[in-house]
Amino acid sequence: MILILPILSVWIGYFIALFLKPKSERGIKLLLAFSGGFLLAYTFFELLPEVYEEGSPKGIAIFILLGILIQIFLEFFSKGAEHGHIHLSSQKISFPTALFLSLSVHAIIEGIPIREGSSVVYAIIIHKLPVAILLSLFILNSEMKKSTGLLFIAAFSLMTPLGSYISQYTDLIDAYGTQLVGIAIGVFFHISTIILFESSQEHAFNLRKLALITMGMVLAYFL
Ligand SMILES: [Zn+2]
Ligand SMILES: [Zn+2]
Repeated sequence: MILILPILSVWIGYFIALFLKPKSERGIKLLLAFSGGFLLAYTFFELLPEVYEEGSPKGIAIFILLGILIQIFLEFFSKGAEHGHIHLSSQKISFPTALFLSLSVHAIIEGIPIREGSSVVYAIIIHKLPVAILLSLFILNSEMKKSTGLLFIAAFSLMTPLGSYISQYTDLIDAYGTQLVGIAIGVFFHISTIILFESSQEHAFNLRKLALITMGMVLAYFL
């Protein structure tokens, strides 16, 4: 049941892009800043303590660092689409395979910590929504066929549930559960810090963004 939520957040993002056609990226950038604060705080409040309880600190840290490295590697191909770094102006694409594959690997990893009754799913849908809006705007503004675009979104929306399905219903999580969650933590850590880093362009002070980042952190505390 819980696996419906990440699918929904991607499609809500798509329909926001399709019907509301947000003209400026400013509103989405604020939502992105909020999601970055939320995801980072959630990682510290919930995910890190959990994995450190279960294994040796150094052993866990290796997998968190590995997650960071995997995400850096994926962004060579996605150019940072996982954290909403999408340039809406690029027009000529048929099907962006590299973008699709790297986003999919990212989304599968993201699904690993989601289990029935776990609040991590809220952190993920809050993170996914602005990314899905930006990704959909990119697809809608491109020369991609509408059916291809829909296929892209549909397949992308299934990747996070696929990750949680694999981790919940196969033996993988019993054997390597903590390590896999460690990798997911590294991925969250990298995307949330980079969102916060990129949210202050040229380090110009932006009170609204700072307020939204803080709100995201506070909300994560109470989740
Ligand atoms: Zn970026
Ligand atoms: Zn993500």
